[in-house]
Parts: sequence; structure tokens; C-alpha cells
Amino acid sequence: MTSPKYELSNMTWVEAEEAFMGSKVALLPTGSVEQHGLHLGVGADWIQAWNIARRVGERCGVTVLPIVPYGVSGHHDDFPGVITLQPSTYQKVISEVLDSLARNGVRRVVFMNGHGGNLSAITEAAKEARRRHGIVCAICQWWDILGSRKIFGHPAEEHAGYAETALTLASRPEAVRMGRAVLSATKQFDDEVQMVRAGLARFRGGLVRIPLKTGDVSDTGSMTEAHPEDVPGTRDYSVVTKEFGEELMGEVVEWMCDFVRRFGEFEVPPINVSKEKAFKELET
Ligand SMILES: [Zn+2]
Repeated sequence: MTSPKYELSNMTWVEAEEAFMGSKVALLPTGSVEQHGLHLGVGADWIQAWNIARRVGERCGVTVLPIVPYGVSGHHDDFPGVITLQPSTYQKVISEVLDSLARNGVRRVVFMNGHGGNLSAITEAAKEARRRHGIVCAICQWWDILGSRKIFGHPAEEHAGYAETALTLASRPEAVRMGRAVLSATKQFDDEVQMVRAGLARFRGGLVRIPLKTGDVSDTGSMTEAHPEDVPGTRDYSVVTKEFGEELMGEVVEWMCDFVRRFGEFEVPPINVSKEKAFKELET
């Protein structure tokens, strides 16, 4: 079996130079090492992100960088098996990877982020890379790509829920214990302040952010990421199969390939702030 050439790790430095010269886009997968309920391995997030990225590389030839497997998972650290970085450390790691890519001539970076907890640090690092190097980053997350679409009545972004279990099955079945699959409804402990998920609550018709830990709202570690009235927990994972995982993964990979192609052409005109331009808008 020949090694796939789209992976940076398999290229010599001469080949890497050619790859970066040939295309200004690179794909950077990111994940986490954190508990995923009673039935998924702690590598679920990076395993999914890596497999999506690898398939995108295979399908559309974009250069795929090695995954950054560790992420920002401090909110899960009451559970064993969690290996986490501080948000500031993580932001610095991503920032320095982007610095290196800039040095290699890369102008567009597409993230395949497998863990929502990484998002704000990646976003900050991306803004910094824009300022320092003019690089434009796009941060893709598979649950965002699936959008508001329900997966057998459940939100795509559930922690260790239907979609994530299906994608892990398609990526690495040995990281799944289907016999132990359970999706915990968000725990409630106040009559009036109703937890929607670990960081969000409802109070008298309004929403309020209450950053809690996973252990506050779930005993198993899985989470519906919704209020129990909207999405109750379940023990029925019979709808989740490897075939369904392949289908979901195929959908995400196709979207990613289309996006990567388009993003290669995506040009942001240079910023040129001037009073003349600003006031001109008043006239039109
Ligand atoms: Zn996950």
C-alpha cells in the first residue's frame, strides 16, 4: 500500500514545498482527548476530525496537516482520561502552527475542528494570523455543516449522541461500546433556573449563560445539549449504525471538498480605511 500523498507527514521537505506552492490552502484537523460518555473512547473528537480530514484530502487533494489531538477540555476534567490544555496554551499552539504555515507560503487555512471547546481559542488565533500574516482561516465543524438538521430527532452536536457515535463508528469502530450507549438528559437542580445545557440556562423566558462543568449536568458524561422538554435522553441507539455513520461522513466530506475548492478562490480585498471612502457611503 502506498502512503497517501496528501498528508504532510508523508511528504519530504521537497514535496512539502511543492504542495504548498501548488495550492495556497491547507487543512488542519483539531480535536480533544476527553470523556465521551460510557460508550465512546476519549479520542472520539480527534478520531472523527482526523478521519473527515483524511477523506477530504483523499477526495480533493488538499494538503492535510497532522492533527492537533489535544484541546480545551477543562470542563470535562472531573472524569478520568481527560488530557487538556489551558485555553491560552491552546491558542498559542494554534497561533504558532499558523505562523509556521505563513512561513511556508500558505494563505488559506481550513480547520476541521472536532471539539466545540476549542472554538474560541482557534477563532482568536485565526484573527491574530489575519492581522500578522494576512492569512484567512475558515473554521469548519461537522455539526455546523450538518446545520440545524435533526439526526433521528436529535441535534447533531450532542456530546456522545447519535451523530457523534455514528461518525466514530465509521472512523474507528474499536472506540465504540454500543452495549453501553446512553444519552443523558441535561440534569436540573433548580425549579426556576432551568439548565438547557452545561453553559446555558432559561430563566423567565430569557436565556442566561452559566458556564458549568459537564459533571454538573450529566452523570454519564454524555449530553443532549438541550433542555429535557425539547430533547429527552435515550438509551435507544439502535438507529445508529456504521452504515449511517458512513452516510453522514460522506455528506460532511462532500461539503468540505466543495468548500475547500471555493475557499481556494476566496479573495478578501485589502483593507484601506480612509475618511474619503467612509463618507462616500453616506452619499450613495
Ligand atoms: Zn465529541
